[in-house]
Amino acid sequence: MNPLKKITIVGGGTAGWIAAAVLCNQFSRDELSIELVESEEIGTIGVGESTIPPFLELLHSLNIDEKDFIQKTQASFKLGIQFSDWKLRGESYFHPFGSISANMDEYVFYQNWLKSCAEGDDFGLQEFSACSVMAKHNKFFLPQGASKTPVSEARYALHLDASLVARYLRNYAEQRGVLRTEGRVVEVQQENSGDIRAVTLQDGRNVGGDFFIDCSGFRGLLIEQTLQAGYEDWSHYLPCDRAIAVQTENSAPPPPYTRATAQPAGWSWKIPLQHRTGNGYVYASEYCSDDEAVATLMQQLEGKPITQPRVIPFQTGMRREIWKGNCLALGLASGFIEPLESTAIHLIARGMVHFMRHFPERNCNPVLAREFNRRMAMDYREIRDFIVLHYCLTQREDTSFWRWCRNMTVPDSLNETLEYFRAQGGLPESMDALFAPVSWRSVCEGMGLRPDSYSPLINNFNYTTTRAHLFNYRKALEDFIQQLPDHDSFIQKHCPSEKPMAA
Ligand code: FAD
Repeated sequence: MNPLKKITIVGGGTAGWIAAAVLCNQFSRDELSIELVESEEIGTIGVGESTIPPFLELLHSLNIDEKDFIQKTQASFKLGIQFSDWKLRGESYFHPFGSISANMDEYVFYQNWLKSCAEGDDFGLQEFSACSVMAKHNKFFLPQGASKTPVSEARYALHLDASLVARYLRNYAEQRGVLRTEGRVVEVQQENSGDIRAVTLQDGRNVGGDFFIDCSGFRGLLIEQTLQAGYEDWSHYLPCDRAIAVQTENSAPPPPYTRATAQPAGWSWKIPLQHRTGNGYVYASEYCSDDEAVATLMQQLEGKPITQPRVIPFQTGMRREIWKGNCLALGLASGFIEPLESTAIHLIARGMVHFMRHFPERNCNPVLAREFNRRMAMDYREIRDFIVLHYCLTQREDTSFWRWCRNMTVPDSLNETLEYFRAQGGLPESMDALFAPVSWRSVCEGMGLRPDSYSPLINNFNYTTTRAHLFNYRKALEDFIQQLPDHDSFIQKHCPSEKPMAA
């Protein structure tokens, strides 16, 4: 065996420090030396504050105490996303985490629910989701603390302060032997084979390594500027290419969900933390100028701004080779899909999971990179299709952006999924998929797409009994949730934020 002896990470944003944390958790200092180079002068992107439930699995895999993490990153809880004005102005729906099953098999529940609609009953799909009902009433409770109750099927994620997360993970990694080097990379040195040998800093120092992880953000210093891995552009499916971000003071206690509101040329986010709210407008520059976007966003702010609005251009797509030679790209360096479902930090963690499964020796057998790239491309495409789903089902006609979305050509893979869903409500299931059928059903229902029919096998169930069960379950869920604590009271009691750690 010829093991890697040193890995160098370029970039100290969320991606760089997650990579460092995962590596130092896996290897002792004697087995693998890890050095992270970052430039304070360049800084990090400073957004990326809404997560999805697998983020907690990352924390647990690193043996990070959830409560400590919440307190040090000013985090609040997230039960899903509220989408407003996407189907039509004035209408909204909720995409919850967790399952929607009313104590049945999820598929059987959904089919029964479809039958209830056909029978003329008015059970709303989300009335059976613990997360949706908790969010509607601004309540929160940990599902793991409520086993055998109607909220045990809930799941949650966190809203967090991106710069405090990087600081937290930096602290974690440095305590476990990761060496942090401050400096701006100005040159990348390659072997004759094309592999990277070292990066040169502005002050002339060289930082070498057997393997490099490019976490340098959109610029892709190693993976693109040096190795020219190429980029698969998806802007023909997702035309938004800019975002404006601004932070505000909280004007009310933080709700336990992210808000995504459709706007004339895109959508805006509100991410509530314990100490402030993150706001932003993601828009398509073809349909909206930066000035118009700033004006739209600023008009709708609910709290006093505490930062200046900042424009962030981006290109939707992914690197053709996320791992090339002895370089792996992670985070924004590997690609980007707009943050509508908060998937980018998940893709960082996912990248590290796949990388650990295909961990190379010094020769970097290209077969490992090939399989890694295939798996990551599957993840990226799945997320792309799910995001396109939110746009293509719109019924809005009021701006040229929404008219474009209504008539857009969608990826073939999404077309197939929608055809299958329309038939009888079926969805392709894969062990490895991020978005479970419950997510697809929630968004389709919220956007007004209901299957043409339900499975005929459901007629074997006694509908009178099922109807009574649905009625009773809905009431039990509502009654149970009414007596849970408010989200803010839960935070104040169990995990109020601490003073931020010093940089
Ligand atoms: P960055 O934060 O840009 O870090 C790059 C690092 O590289 C920095 O440390 C920088 O100093 C360093 N660097 C760059 N060049 C050099 C150099 N020459 N020398 C030395 N160091 C260098 N994700 C979510 O999961 N949820 C969200 O809600 C979400 N919202 C988003 C909203 C917007 C508008 C955008 C653009 C992204 C959003 N994301 C979101 C994505 C999320 O922000 C990123 O995935 C995450 O922050 C990781 O960024 P990064 O570490 O790859 O890059």
